[in-house]
Amino acid sequence: MNRITTFTLLLLSFFIFTGCHTTDSLDPSDDTIFQYSVLSSLLQGVYDGDMNFGELSDHGDTGLGTLQHLDGEMIALDGVFYQINSDGDALVIPDSEMTPFAVVTEFSPDITISTQEVLELGELYTYIDERIPSENLPYCIRISGTFSYVKTRSVPEQQRPYPVLLEVLKEQPIFEFEQITGDIIGFRLPDYMGEANAAGYHFHFITEDRSAGGHLLACTTDDIMIQIDISDQWYVSIPEDEDFLEFKANDDQYR
Ligand code: ZN
Repeated sequence: MNRITTFTLLLLSFFIFTGCHTTDSLDPSDDTIFQYSVLSSLLQGVYDGDMNFGELSDHGDTGLGTLQHLDGEMIALDGVFYQINSDGDALVIPDSEMTPFAVVTEFSPDITISTQEVLELGELYTYIDERIPSENLPYCIRISGTFSYVKTRSVPEQQRPYPVLLEVLKEQPIFEFEQITGDIIGFRLPDYMGEANAAGYHFHFITEDRSAGGHLLACTTDDIMIQIDISDQWYVSIPEDEDFLEFKANDDQYR
């Protein structure tokens, strides 16, 4: 279902709210958000994971995350996984590369909206909020088109002993684009998922020529298509390496 009318959206909402699931939605490979590790461990400096991108790609073709040693931002779309390194350059990630944190899904949009409204990032959040059936469902979102402005950041590869993420972000390289065509990929997650991921919106950007991008800090839309994939399952794969086993999940001082 690539494009639905308001009427079918209402019908869809009805089925969601009445808990009427099709057999498809019970298939773990369909409409499942797959997450490797949790964001709180990344915030506290757990930058080594034990899952590689070959394994990750079995769980989805679209998503975001980071690479081993916090070596840049990751964005996945159309089944290709890209690293945005600390120079802002996009590079295809080999299957053998590892990740400490990533979130992916098999992208199949349920809602498609095109708009030429000029929206800054906060306005874009509101625009999407007004068009989703509930704030208590997780969504994978792809926004494709032209932007009059995009501002991103990346992160440089870290060495042990690892600083917490907040310290790394004080030195984050920033990149700005004007009149750029590209894709934003990300998630809008319910508040109740905030402890294990980031509640609300989290977006990464990549240019249409797949040469540059980063974690989205700001944008102004020009002519875009918003595709929203409604999910009803959330799978978290929990690491078992020493760093993860020892980090303090309830330590809020770095949030
Ligand atoms: Zn990010």
